[in-house]
Amino acid sequence: MQNRRLNLGILGYPLFHSLSPRLYQTAMETLGMEGEYHLFPIPPVPEGAEQIQSLLQRVCSGELQGLNVTIPHKQAVIPWLDKLTPTASAIGAVNVLFLNGDRLTGDNTDAPGFSADLRRYIDRPAGSALVLGAGGAARAVVFALAQSGWRVRVCARRAAQAAGLARDLQHAGLHPISAAPLTADVLQEFGDCRLIVNATPVGMTPQIDASPWLEGLPFPAGALVYDLIYKPPETKLMLQARAAGLQAVSGLGMLVEQAVLAFERWTGIRPEGSSMTEGRGSETSSAVFSETITNY
Ligand code: NAP
Repeated sequence: MQNRRLNLGILGYPLFHSLSPRLYQTAMETLGMEGEYHLFPIPPVPEGAEQIQSLLQRVCSGELQGLNVTIPHKQAVIPWLDKLTPTASAIGAVNVLFLNGDRLTGDNTDAPGFSADLRRYIDRPAGSALVLGAGGAARAVVFALAQSGWRVRVCARRAAQAAGLARDLQHAGLHPISAAPLTADVLQEFGDCRLIVNATPVGMTPQIDASPWLEGLPFPAGALVYDLIYKPPETKLMLQARAAGLQAVSGLGMLVEQAVLAFERWTGIRPEGSSMTEGRGSETSSAVFSETITNY
């Protein structure tokens, strides 16, 4: 694989601000691999259906070795795939496509990417977690948490969306997932939680003065606040949490880890080609990608 020219890309819409080309180009350069990472901005189905199918055909023919998939196509592409990994199937969304044998396969590396980064801060399931938002990223995060032993409550401004997520992900063997509306009363009820994850876009550039956590509402003592947002690198939620004495981190680590795993799916190689032990390999890879984003 190292001598072969890589042809990768991302399917999404719009893609003006995608960091992915920088991430993967840096990985290829670091590994001494040649190749390109293309943007494929294709409008949502049904308008983009034909274009998507012809792009997927390029993966099937081997012309493209891999694709990332992002909003709004993470669920829409599934009917055209031959196979889903168990993780993608459980979550009901894909962010990585590749050819496995002759089968076009969809995987979800957001969930293990989140878990890998979370392990830097919390090394074992620690009870209850609160997830704000019930969209695509929340599905991956809730799956990752419930699978590794957290009791998860998902809160969304549309209670029905939270309930739907909890119902869809309540697979046998997963720890309990409950759903509630995103209100101050509900957030206050959850005073014993050890982890709060923001999976809404509230606070993302350019709305940097917004936070999903109501002003003045106390935080659960000792909780880690994990904001999936990585632009800006410090969100208002993170600043609120730190002012209350809590540890707060951004979604940059997750972004990096899901990209590391995607690259590995496509090439069989983790960026840096470093140790196969997860901790050391991930840290080295993160350093490469983080440098890229800082300079972006
Ligand atoms: P999504 O599918 O659109 O879901 C967003 C969720 O947030 C929905 O439940 C939505 O509710 C809710 N929401 C939106 N605006 C809100 C508001 N003003 N108040 C309360 N709830 C609100 O988006 P997504 O793909 O899950 O992404 C969510 C965030 O995660 C984004 O900031 C994204 O950049 C980030 N993300 C980070 C990574 C990473 O690697 N770090 C990966 C994926 C996503 P409605 O449906 O009612 O609008």
